[in-house]
Amino acid sequence: MTELEQLAAEIAQCRKCALARGRTKTVPGQGPVGAKVMFIGEAPGFHEDRQGLPFVGAAGQFLEELLASIGMSREQVYICNVIKCRPPNNRDPLPEEIEACRPYLDRQIEIVRPRVIVTLGRFSMARYFPNASISQIHGRPKRIGDILYLPLFHPAAALHQPRFRSAIEQDFQKIPELLKQAVPVEEQRANEHPQQLSLF
Ligand code: URA
Repeated sequence: MTELEQLAAEIAQCRKCALARGRTKTVPGQGPVGAKVMFIGEAPGFHEDRQGLPFVGAAGQFLEELLASIGMSREQVYICNVIKCRPPNNRDPLPEEIEACRPYLDRQIEIVRPRVIVTLGRFSMARYFPNASISQIHGRPKRIGDILYLPLFHPAAALHQPRFRSAIEQDFQKIPELLKQAVPVEEQRANEHPQQLSLF
């Protein structure tokens, strides 16, 4: 079993919060170890809960279109959510649910070792950009340690609102440039002096 499979098996047994009772399947995440980009969404929805896979509904299709616009495919990236079980009626995740799931997300980041983390929507943004407003900071990358974080609007919100849609389409175009700026994994291991971010 790979480390990610082992983690997924652990998540499948998780009963740390009340969402365990209502789920069909847990939705740990999907993608290869070593993916250079990790996308962190909010929570599984109806289709994700049925299939046990992240972003397989309409928002997922839009995410795939956005990836195609920068010459990337879903198979190349790691996709997951802040919480791994579907909240009833797709309500917002509660602070205690986010907290219960936090160690799983931390381990995913440790195992996958992405160079760029793209947060999708407010809940994953809040982890790295506390107290920020997404309307103000979307598309503005920040380096913390060796990882570049890029906050974006959530594709589900952007899908139906033209203003957010053009913002996410434009912000997405920054990803290839960020990847060029990102610290290679070999250097990440040895690096004790985080570089300044000279982009944007
Ligand atoms: N929205 C999310 O935030 N995550 C999913 O997996 C699907 C839709």
